[in-house]
Amino acid sequence: MSEIRQYLYCPRIVYWRRVLKMGGVETPLMRKGRERQARAIRDSLQLVPLRGCRVERDVDLHSGRLGLRGRLDGLLICGDRAYPLEVKFATPARSHRVQLAAYGMLVEENFGVRVDEGYLYYPGGAGLVRVEGLGRMRGEVLRIIKDLKGIIKGEYLPPPTRNRSKCRVCEHFSVCRGV
Ligand code: SF4
Repeated sequence: MSEIRQYLYCPRIVYWRRVLKMGGVETPLMRKGRERQARAIRDSLQLVPLRGCRVERDVDLHSGRLGLRGRLDGLLICGDRAYPLEVKFATPARSHRVQLAAYGMLVEENFGVRVDEGYLYYPGGAGLVRVEGLGRMRGEVLRIIKDLKGIIKGEYLPPPTRNRSKCRVCEHFSVCRGV
């Protein structure tokens, strides 16, 4: 799932990390971010309407069929339906919804439930946002997975992101330069 997140930020990151094996070392700043994330997950689960649903945190998910694995921040299981939840320290973006849809596909496969909706939590910003229509994003998720496989197996360097402001905070800028 981290590859989908990276791809949605910039497809080229997957090339640096998976093909050239660059990056991926946890810095003190990233460690601090993980602690902040754990607090935010706790806060978010107090905001979602539980309606007697079972709640799970840090849910490990895997699909050999899709070639995906990931750890979901939170999951509400309500009978034959489930609602994934992800925390984001960012401003709301479409890429967050696509990533949530990918988690939804993993949840369906791992738990045998249906996922149409979920939640994104933006601490200190937009707060808890209910996301509908996750099923409609499945085609986009499958297209991204196909692209990812093409980059990794074909060792193909994708074009740089069109949003060059992302390059300024990218850990691969020194080798990539965004060109
Ligand atoms: S520097 Fe820019 S183009 Fe290169 S990987 Fe990072 S975000 Fe993508």
